[in-house]
Amino acid sequence: MIAIAIDGPAGAGKSTIARVAAKELGYLYVDTGALYRGVGLFVLEQGTEPSDEAGVASLLSGLKVDLAFREGEQRVLVNGEDVTARIRTPEVSMAASRASAIPAVREFLFHLQQDMAKTNNVVMDGRDIGTVVLPNAQVKIFLTASPEDRARRRYEELIQKGETVAYEAVLEDLKQRDYNDSHRAVAPLKPAPDSVLLDTTGNTLEQSIAQLLAVIRERLPKAVSPGKYRMSKLYKLLTIIGPAILHTFFRLKIEGKEKLPKEGGYILACNHISNFDPVLLAVAVVPRQVRYMAKEELFRGKLTGKFIRALGAFPVRRGAGDTGALNVGAEIVESGAVMGIFPEGTRSDDLKPMRAKSGIAVVASIAGADVYPAAIISKKEVGLFGKVRIIIGDRISKEEMAMTEQSHKEMKRVAGLIMNRITKLWERGYEEM
Ligand code: C5P
Repeated sequence: MIAIAIDGPAGAGKSTIARVAAKELGYLYVDTGALYRGVGLFVLEQGTEPSDEAGVASLLSGLKVDLAFREGEQRVLVNGEDVTARIRTPEVSMAASRASAIPAVREFLFHLQQDMAKTNNVVMDGRDIGTVVLPNAQVKIFLTASPEDRARRRYEELIQKGETVAYEAVLEDLKQRDYNDSHRAVAPLKPAPDSVLLDTTGNTLEQSIAQLLAVIRERLPKAVSPGKYRMSKLYKLLTIIGPAILHTFFRLKIEGKEKLPKEGGYILACNHISNFDPVLLAVAVVPRQVRYMAKEELFRGKLTGKFIRALGAFPVRRGAGDTGALNVGAEIVESGAVMGIFPEGTRSDDLKPMRAKSGIAVVASIAGADVYPAAIISKKEVGLFGKVRIIIGDRISKEEMAMTEQSHKEMKRVAGLIMNRITKLWERGYEEM
């Protein structure tokens, strides 16, 4: 399942933008704020003060909050009653904000939110979706805008609904909620380290939607987007004309190519010595499209970004424990495609294999996929008319890589096992060169 987590302060336009994006992608849109609002409404109706921790906690046993979807629109049910139309008042907003700081309330709604994402592809918006509820979401976005901009939007919304409010009051309310949301002890509002920040200040709605969809499309390669998985035209062209060109220019020698499966998902793991590696491996070695995990910076360049996206690469944030990207990798493999990864996470300066980062172990374990080790060998800096050798090793089965537990130590062990196999291939190739 694919999850897109959108967090941010009140009034940043999350729900409107997320709803449209979900529609566009064919995913289910889940507005988690509505759940907290449902709790807020219930608490008010019971005559309990929403920040009274013990009082609110004691009400929860008599409360059932559910989400239903009618014609794609989310409805909130409180003890079976559809309260969707009644939870948008300023009083309920404030009650929701207060009650949401209570740990028992967060715990109460936690599983409901997680369960939605277990059985549906979702775009889920809230305050702690990327950080707490769906820490493994493939795409995490932190959507924000200046307080004034956000207050103006809320104000216009309320006026349109026929409410009589003053802009200043809306702004004050919003600042108070911002403060509550980001200062509470449990699951405070903050960007997940691997989230993409989107500031919508001054944007039109259309601009914000376009921005959001661009981020989602960049993070989710075509293989896991809805629609049929197809090799891009550029890629097809490259596989036809590429091998001959590459063989000539790099005096390539390839061994073990026949070991690679013709169909089904697997991970191709190779040491990394130059910028040519992905192209050499993908075009000259593997007759299928290889989707590479590539550092995010590469996607920022206008031309390089376009090129590597067309090749089917997807971005990873280095050093941020980007579990979302690792999940995208796993999805690719599960969907029956080939994912390429450089387990060392960076290029080697001296052309020799280095130690692997643990990411490869995480992807392999989530995807439950086989890994094919590959070594790329050159005696001097890879360039035109240099000599490059590539060796594909024997399959490393998922059984061999099975982790006994989800610990750091186990991940290191599995990553080490894979890198060891690559290094052995490399050593043999180097000697024979
Ligand atoms: O997003 P919305 O303004 O409808 O949310 C109402 C309130 O619910 C927020 O002010 C926030 O305090 C709380 N909330 C939360 N965690 C979420 C979603 C909403 O604490 N994931």
